[in-house]
Amino acid sequence: MRKSDSDSDGLVDAHFHFDLFKDSAEVLAEIASRRVRTIAVTNAPSVFHHTLKFSRTSPYLLPAVGLHPELVATHGRELDSMWPLLDQTRFVGEVGLDYVTSDRENRAAQRGVFSSIVERCATYGDKVLSVHSRRSAADVIAVIGGNYPGRVILHWFSGSRRDLDRGLEAGCFFSVGPAMVKSSNGLSLLSAMPRDRVLTETDGPFVQSGGRPARPGDVASVVEAIAQVWNVSQDETKSTISRNFESLLATDLRSRPLATA
Ligand code: MN
Repeated sequence: MRKSDSDSDGLVDAHFHFDLFKDSAEVLAEIASRRVRTIAVTNAPSVFHHTLKFSRTSPYLLPAVGLHPELVATHGRELDSMWPLLDQTRFVGEVGLDYVTSDRENRAAQRGVFSSIVERCATYGDKVLSVHSRRSAADVIAVIGGNYPGRVILHWFSGSRRDLDRGLEAGCFFSVGPAMVKSSNGLSLLSAMPRDRVLTETDGPFVQSGGRPARPGDVASVVEAIAQVWNVSQDETKSTISRNFESLLATDLRSRPLATA
């Protein structure tokens, strides 16, 4: 990642599905012109190369290799093909657990996959994970544990206040998107988050913004909503989030442990 003053006052989209947009070049040009540092998550190892290829042309696109929990039932066999890809990038996602399914075998398979990924990532020490935790926050945090040596971002967090506290104790960051700032539960969680653990995201194209699938530049509206909750200016909110992103990426993680909340 190239570092410059212009990046540090830019925007952050910590969870965006770049590969699900057909107009890749146009989306990437927009990301660069609006200076949005974007973690481009993918849902299966077999689709990672497309994003990796585009990421080589722009410092704003940070490619993440993932295996989405809702795809474990159909794509779980791709897990082994993820391991060599971990050498290609520092970013991992979308991974995690989704307990919308009540199928016990499916949930157990998801936990197996997610645990293996976390364990494998822990051997690197600096991996940044973007994690899905729908209806499964307590188990997600239990799998991550208290000693994961990289960074974890809980994306679109919708757990309880108790889960939030557990996530903070585990050192997690939280990427907040357009849907969270429109829901009363999302806003109440946001108010309870220490400001130095908050990031922004879109989760486009799974979230709409302005009547179309959200793109990284749409985090501007999330910044606006967070600024209202924090009762500070949008500029200050933007620089806080940018600073948080810098601290997320700080290279010497082991010597700079996060204080527990
Ligand atoms: Mn997603």
